[in-house]
Amino acid sequence: MDTNERQFTVAVLGAGPVGLAAAAHLVARGLAPLVFEAGAAPGANLATYRHVRLFSPWQYDVDKAARQLLERRGWTAPAPDALPTAGELLDDYLAPLAATPEIAPHLLFGHRVSALTRAGFDKVKTQGRERAPFVIRADTAAGPRAYLADAVIDATGTWSHPNPLGADGIPALGEAALAARIDYGMPDVLGAARARFAGKTILVVGAGHSAAGTLLALARLAQDDPATRIVWATRGRRLDRVFGGGAADGLPARGELGLRLKALRDAGGLVLRQDFRIQALDEIDGRLRVTGAPVEGTVPVIDGIDRIVCAAGARPDLGLGRELRVRHDPWLESTDALAPLIDPNEHSCGTVRPHGHRELAHPEPGYYVVGAKSYGRAPNFLLATGYEQVRSVVAALAGDLAAADDVQLDLPETGVCNTRLAFDDAAPGPADGCCGVAPAAAAACCVPAAAAGGACGCRHPAPTGCCA
Ligand SMILES: Cc1cc2nc3c(=O)[nH]c(=O)nc-3n(C[C@H](O)[C@H](O)[C@H](O)COP(=O)(O)OP(=O)(O)OC[C@H]3O[C@@H](n4cnc5c(N)ncnc54)[C@H](O)[C@@H]3O)c2cc1C
Repeated sequence: MDTNERQFTVAVLGAGPVGLAAAAHLVARGLAPLVFEAGAAPGANLATYRHVRLFSPWQYDVDKAARQLLERRGWTAPAPDALPTAGELLDDYLAPLAATPEIAPHLLFGHRVSALTRAGFDKVKTQGRERAPFVIRADTAAGPRAYLADAVIDATGTWSHPNPLGADGIPALGEAALAARIDYGMPDVLGAARARFAGKTILVVGAGHSAAGTLLALARLAQDDPATRIVWATRGRRLDRVFGGGAADGLPARGELGLRLKALRDAGGLVLRQDFRIQALDEIDGRLRVTGAPVEGTVPVIDGIDRIVCAAGARPDLGLGRELRVRHDPWLESTDALAPLIDPNEHSCGTVRPHGHRELAHPEPGYYVVGAKSYGRAPNFLLATGYEQVRSVVAALAGDLAAADDVQLDLPETGVCNTRLAFDDAAPGPADGCCGVAPAAAAACCVPAAAAGGACGCRHPAPTGCCA
């Protein structure tokens, strides 16, 4: 195929909210999107937690280009301050967007992208590679297929690659063998998955908002079925991030979630095991024994568990870009340039400095990772950030650098990062780095590593994001 005779084609990987927003921006700029979606419908990851109410109101959940496209088709935006469930985001926004005549012809459902490369070039070959089209290899029901595109926007998210239970980042011993007893993510414990959880002893692992949501849902289940027992294990000792900014949170629903979880903990509605670093799972007399790493010479165990919910976050699938020239931050797995803006060691909030095509660029020209995947292992991604990312990236691909560089972001701030922490659990523990808790004076949040004796402090020279 002669790329010069084709309309500039941009492969968009993933038809989640950010991938579809990218498609809307591409259409608006007269570029041709080719959207690959592994699932049978848009938003396949969101569909796994349809029941979950988001903490961002609609005003932060709808992309501007998508909105314009939808409104031209008679769509009415939901009330800006209402909080959709993930299912409502799908049904009332993403599905209608995917069905518009501008987007629908460009969607390839049931296409799971398995590899990317440049036509005729492996990773090592340099001369002329930037002129070679990208090859997108996708697994389909009819077997593997290859497609060409001039640029690639990877918006495949992280949700389909959950972190394991093992506290060291690799699966715990026995985790794979006992996979049938483990749910990753946010199972619908009050709905479709109820029978698996009612009357059982459930261990929830994790200290983020997904863990919080599942714990609260299980508490409701326990009201209906008092035989239901809840055990909550966290790797660390501090709970301030999940308890959040309380009433000071810029997203009230997120603050409320933390408040309710703290109340549940305080009321003894669950058994809390902190400092529990899972090493191994075993089945004993039909129930699970969970073993943690030794603490002060004692090996902690949790016995009598029927099921485990692993809500330990997710990680990007870096395998897709294996044959491309990519550069990642060594531990966040975002791009180098984005890492200092989002590093959860230093930033516990979604308040990031506006960023766009420059921070998202890899050494491979024309390849961008956007959306939740762009944050790598950092859990603090918000949709509004992703929408601004794709606006900037698409403007850059269209050659409009003025618009591409004019990045703007108006994000709700969380009280966790920018104000005094709402709860006494915020007192730093011995394991915390000096940047672990944002102090009242934001400027003090980042101290040069040298001033901190090299043991802690910010690894990034310029104070950025919520530490600015
Ligand atoms: C429980 C939960 C609640 C959240 N609440 C909020 C909130 O209130 N506000 C907020 O701003 N953010 C929230 N987020 C964070 C974030 O906005 C969402 O995760 C959002 O869905 C990310 O959008 P995305 O398009 O980047 O990725 P995803 O929504 O994960 O979409 C990725 C898409 O790519 C597809 N895909 C994956 N791999 C492949 C492949 N190899 N080939 C082809 N297709 C593939 C998937 O099927 C999916 O459709 C929440 C996240 C979670 C998990």
